[in-house]
Amino acid sequence: MPLQGTRLEVNLAALEHNFHYLKSKLQSGVKFMAVVKANAYGHGAVTIAQRLQELNVDYFAVAYVSEAVELRDNGIHKPILVLHPQTFMLDTCIERCIEPVIYSVEMLDAFITAAQARQQKSYPIHLEFNTGLNRIGIDLKDIDEVISKVTSNSSVKVRGLQSHLAASEDLNEDDFTKSQIKLFEIINDQLENALPYSFLKHESNTSGILNYQSAHFSMVRSGIGLYGYGNDKKFDADLIPIAALKSVISQTRWIEAGESVSYNRKFIAQERTRYAVIALGHGDGINRIYGYGKAHVSINGKLAPTLGIICMDMFMVDITNIDCHAGDEVIIFSKQLTARDMAEKAGTISYEILTGIQKRVPRAYIK
Ligand SMILES: *Cc1c(COP(=O)(O)O)cnc(C)c1O
Repeated sequence: MPLQGTRLEVNLAALEHNFHYLKSKLQSGVKFMAVVKANAYGHGAVTIAQRLQELNVDYFAVAYVSEAVELRDNGIHKPILVLHPQTFMLDTCIERCIEPVIYSVEMLDAFITAAQARQQKSYPIHLEFNTGLNRIGIDLKDIDEVISKVTSNSSVKVRGLQSHLAASEDLNEDDFTKSQIKLFEIINDQLENALPYSFLKHESNTSGILNYQSAHFSMVRSGIGLYGYGNDKKFDADLIPIAALKSVISQTRWIEAGESVSYNRKFIAQERTRYAVIALGHGDGINRIYGYGKAHVSINGKLAPTLGIICMDMFMVDITNIDCHAGDEVIIFSKQLTARDMAEKAGTISYEILTGIQKRVPRAYIK
């Protein structure tokens, strides 16, 4: 992919740096699961997973079976966990050697039926228990039923015990997080006593890795940290945002006071104003909330605020005080002007900015 025009530049050396940094936080022997769901948070799941596989990551996680199939089709042979499988995809899951997270008794029944129908022996599954996030997960009250089903069915074998922290990035919720860790330990003890073999235990996301060593257990699941964001500015020195969203100026124009810019005339110039048109819009993932000066871009080292409404394929910025021309590079976010800063302006998080970058934007990989 040529390094010109609108593109998401992804720096694979920065990915490697983040991976090694996060791993350095773990005790030896703790496994690392790279979360590459939602197209690796917008960075391109196949290339990101291939690079991490070369770096010898232990496991991958995606949300849906279709995402795991894409990885299998592209040379990913490491174990892949599906965090949120759905019953109609369980056969595909087995066909492609993908490990499901079992999050309810019904899902366990459905998976055992699918595994038996395909004459499976000891097919690896991960049991997810709800410890307080109140999203998906098996309830503690169902643990005996789950144990009796997995011990009496040779078609499946527990490969992992999973839970998910609700507020690992928010130290005001420290007591709650610690109660989740405690409950996870209780569930783990019951399962360990009941099963004649050992299994992996994983509860931490990126913020769990950075804030709660006691929640590392035998594997961690990291997404956002790999992409360079730590949910707290104090980790900015250690993690490097791996993506930069860049575009170019398509056209520039001077307008007089009283003239408007973009649809519905939502911006009216108070004085003579020069604007630039950028080749990117809400069809690429730049939310309309960023119009009317809510965001700015960097052009030749200077910040240019948006003018008027964001259109589908383009938006306008104020360049009255910037020396620039059609064809010049525009930086929407980068490791300096971060996606988190942009997200904060709209009351959202870096995750949503990154996953929102649409397929139309080519990904350009830099080694
Ligand atoms: C998305 C997800 C993760 C990764 O979280 P990050 O904050 O991006 O590290 C881990 N575990 C589960 C269950 C998830 O859904």
